[in-house]
Amino acid sequence: MASETETFAFQAEINQLLSLIINTFYSNKEIFLRELISNASDALDKIRFESLTDKSKLDAQPELFIHIIPDKATNTLTLIDSGIGMTKSDLVNNLGTIARSGTKDFMEALAAGADVSMIGQFGVGFYSAYLVAERVVVTSKHNDDEQYVWESQAGGSFTVTRDTTGEPLGRGTKITLYLKDDQLEYLEERRLKDLVKKHSEFISYPISLWTEKTTEKEISDDEDEDEKKDTEEGKVEEIDEEKEEKEKKKKKIKEVSHEWNLINKQKPIWMRKPEEITKEEYAAFYKSLTNDWEEHLAVKHFSVEGQLEFKAVLFVPKRAPFDLFDTRKKLNNIKLYVRRVFIMDNCEELIPEWLSFVKGIVDSEDLPLNISRETLQQNKILKVIRKNLVKKCIELFFEIAENKEDYNKFYEAFSKNLKLGVHEDSTNRTKLAELLRYHSTKSGDELTSLKDYVTRMKEGQSDIYYITGESKKAVENSPFLEKLKKKGYEVLYMVDAIDEYSIGQLKEFEGKKLVSATKEGLKLDDSEEEKKRKEELKEKFEGLCKVIKEVLGDRVEKVIVSDRVVDSPCCLVTGEYGWTANMERIMKAQALRDTSMGGYMSSKKTMEINPENAIMEELRKRADVDKNDKSVKDLVMLLFETSLLTSGFSLDDPNTFGTRIHRMLKLGLSIDEDEEAAEADTDMPPLEEDAGESKMEEVD
Ligand code: ADP
Repeated sequence: MASETETFAFQAEINQLLSLIINTFYSNKEIFLRELISNASDALDKIRFESLTDKSKLDAQPELFIHIIPDKATNTLTLIDSGIGMTKSDLVNNLGTIARSGTKDFMEALAAGADVSMIGQFGVGFYSAYLVAERVVVTSKHNDDEQYVWESQAGGSFTVTRDTTGEPLGRGTKITLYLKDDQLEYLEERRLKDLVKKHSEFISYPISLWTEKTTEKEISDDEDEDEKKDTEEGKVEEIDEEKEEKEKKKKKIKEVSHEWNLINKQKPIWMRKPEEITKEEYAAFYKSLTNDWEEHLAVKHFSVEGQLEFKAVLFVPKRAPFDLFDTRKKLNNIKLYVRRVFIMDNCEELIPEWLSFVKGIVDSEDLPLNISRETLQQNKILKVIRKNLVKKCIELFFEIAENKEDYNKFYEAFSKNLKLGVHEDSTNRTKLAELLRYHSTKSGDELTSLKDYVTRMKEGQSDIYYITGESKKAVENSPFLEKLKKKGYEVLYMVDAIDEYSIGQLKEFEGKKLVSATKEGLKLDDSEEEKKRKEELKEKFEGLCKVIKEVLGDRVEKVIVSDRVVDSPCCLVTGEYGWTANMERIMKAQALRDTSMGGYMSSKKTMEINPENAIMEELRKRADVDKNDKSVKDLVMLLFETSLLTSGFSLDDPNTFGTRIHRMLKLGLSIDEDEEAAEADTDMPPLEEDAGESKMEEVD
């Protein structure tokens, strides 16, 4: 009975990708083989893993292998693996109807100039078959289903048919590529061998190539040639004529035979001695492990012996992947092996999240082969391995830091991870802090470490100062830095959102407290003379502070005479343990955050006024004359709103602020409007209502 053929349309994005692959010129077509071998290897990993808990899964085909068969008679290249195989619905879903997020990402990357060899990173490697083939036929047998054939010449659709006539695979997948006329080089044995060596050397299953062996043989009419040969040798003294006669009878023919030729013979790289492995070999291994098209930045290859035994190779890539912090995508970082047997990709228990950019393998001697994802979590051996890996990673980062150029590259790509590490890893926090780098008031274009900062600390300086904010530009000229700069104290710019979190955990470095320039409690050492002067000023401005507080009401906690501003009239500082303005900004930006927190965590602001600023002096005078002076209230509001902005907060009501500014502009431009009309015009609420309600009554 002929089975029915069903036709399916490729999902739109996949279809687009296929046209791109087929119609765009890429010189680097050879990568298709690596992608297909990599898929085969993944499929073999899957069945091997399943078989660890259920041996019978291998019954249909006990051998695990990858076969490559070039056939010049039909211009086809066929790959067979005895992996897990695909059911009918797998074929339909995985090879055409369900697009991965990577499909679109990859096309965008290509449009942006990325190389087609990056395809594997985006999870759409299978389609690279169409770089070289005009037609692809996939036959697959999964333990849970019958054998099915998938077939497509691209062009928008594919078919799936139950395979009733083909040779049974037992279990696994056979992919036959009908090569384009100009791609027949992929039938050449030499080319295939070189490609496997180049891209797939570290595949841990035997890859065998079906090779043609041509032997030239001389045969005579005699039936048994070997015997003939022997007789020939034995009769060397035969007379010439006789010999010639015989030669005429002999024919030279080419005998073609085939045999499997194992083409990946390397033992796993981690089993070899580090000193015997070249940088190129590590690079090749790294590329095969990660699908990265660039070499690694750094590698650490080590073994741990003693109570616990394992070997590991860890790599730091040159760049962060495009989706480093995309939590939807499972990261593929550390592969776990047990006594050379692959157990799983991405063993989350082996490495903390902040190190998720580190790639590599771990091969344990102690774990049981049938370890499952569920039991991993409680596994003590794994915990010890993990501790070791973290330690080695940090060592590796310090090694990178020895070369400034490399470290800059590393830091640019992974500083967020280090900072996450400082936040999360209390054991290694101090060590990790040494790896942090920041711009500062004194670092210019370079970055500085905390260690270097400490060596530059001024005499008498006991704390490390920093300011957090949205960008270097936003904090560089902040009023908070005025006094610190004047005193010659260096201030670190912490302008990464995560800095707020990591520095909150770090608290100190080499015994020096980390002090925020924007929070309460900034104490700068002053001379006796200065202290005296300050006391006097404090007294002098006490009245104004009170007036301002009354005008601002609940908007601020308190109003005090400042020690940190030199030029600006005032600034708004936040409590030592509450959120900074920057943190408030970050939290507001987190769409999914629980808003109930905002209320009590949001910054309690203290207004600090600069007694040496002319505006403040003028205000003081006016307030002294009449504390209900309308212009005083208006100016205080304006000062408050402006310092919200210069201190890094946002305005809750920018319109009122705008209106106030406009009114000031009119004043400055001497635009004569009687007050009433002006207020009606701008719809400006009377100032009294701006301030806290009950408080205002006292003022009035
Ligand atoms: P990726 O392998 O990165 O997931 P591909 O486009 O290369 O993306 O393959 C898509 C899916 O098709 C795979 O995830 C896998 O489920 C399935 N697949 C591809 N090749 C094979 C194979 N040889 N054996 C079993 N399944 C396969």
